[in-house]
Amino acid sequence: MKLRTKFVAATMLAGAVSAFSFLSAGAAQAQGALVMYCGVQEEWCRAMVNAFERDTGIKVAMTRKSSGEIYAQVKAEAANPRADIWWGGTGDPHMQAAEEGLTQEYKSPKLGELQDWAVRQWEQSKNRAIGIYSGALGFGYNTELIKSKGVPEPKCWADLLNTKLKDEVQMADPNSSGTAYTLLATVIQLMGEDKGFEYLKGLHKNVNQYTKSGAAPAKAMALGETTVGVAFMHDIVTMVVDKAPIKVVAPCEGTGYEIGSMSIVKGAKNLENAQKFYDWALTPAAQKLGAEAKSYQVPSNKATPVPPEAPKLSEIKLINFDFAKYGSSDERKRLLSKWDNEVKNLP
Ligand code: PLP
Repeated sequence: MKLRTKFVAATMLAGAVSAFSFLSAGAAQAQGALVMYCGVQEEWCRAMVNAFERDTGIKVAMTRKSSGEIYAQVKAEAANPRADIWWGGTGDPHMQAAEEGLTQEYKSPKLGELQDWAVRQWEQSKNRAIGIYSGALGFGYNTELIKSKGVPEPKCWADLLNTKLKDEVQMADPNSSGTAYTLLATVIQLMGEDKGFEYLKGLHKNVNQYTKSGAAPAKAMALGETTVGVAFMHDIVTMVVDKAPIKVVAPCEGTGYEIGSMSIVKGAKNLENAQKFYDWALTPAAQKLGAEAKSYQVPSNKATPVPPEAPKLSEIKLINFDFAKYGSSDERKRLLSKWDNEVKNLP
């Protein structure tokens, strides 16, 4: 069934209970195990947990949430942190948490094996957030639906404003989703703030649903619930690999990208295990698990094979994304509240 109501599912602080905790936080702490907040697709989160447990014997209690939701939870728990390690999700809330003192410094012996962009993220966050993967933002469309509606195949961000796409575009809510915040920051950097917000207001007219998670629009496209979905290109590729009738688009004007990140929570009760996970997660053996779980980002360790399915960043017109500015606490708060006030509540 197609969801046509403008529905915002973000419940930022609700749901501190994990849908996929393999053991309770109390039990994990008692055993000197590891409590992990995981910001990527659940299949990949679970693969990481299983492999780390197998390799180290350390038990992991894992909770999967979207990037902005993990930030909100880490902030809400700052006085008595529950999590030890925050792995995955876009870099912006990791950067904001670093600036706000919610995460702590760590220098991994693996640093020298990483791509420059991963190390730059670490330096810009004052040694707190490190890059674990990268991927470009884009959109996709369901080729059968677009044909049946007689809409020209969109190639550019501007094409998503076509009035024939009313209620046919799905994206996430930037408060909960790092993917959608990347869109917000991307259009502002491409068009300037005023024109960028005008664009988002125009897009709102075509949006059928603001989902909580950034990958949800890709799944909805595959199910035929929406014609167009804005998402990271690698998340849309996952649907194409599963044989959905979807085309992935690198927008003609250029696009933004993410540096998926990892941080150790300030006050982590299992600090030694968090550092063990941090070092392990930067190895090629651990990073290879992404592609095995059908997540096709570019990994940050230079020795990890880049999955052949991963969109080629060198062939995409990428903007010079200002991660420090758009990950800063003031800017992120300001832009999200402006989006809430000027876009989300429009009819
Ligand atoms: N899953 C994958 C595979 C991603 O690449 C990302 C981005 O870092 C996310 C999830 C984050 O999703 P969300 O937009 O829900 O924060």
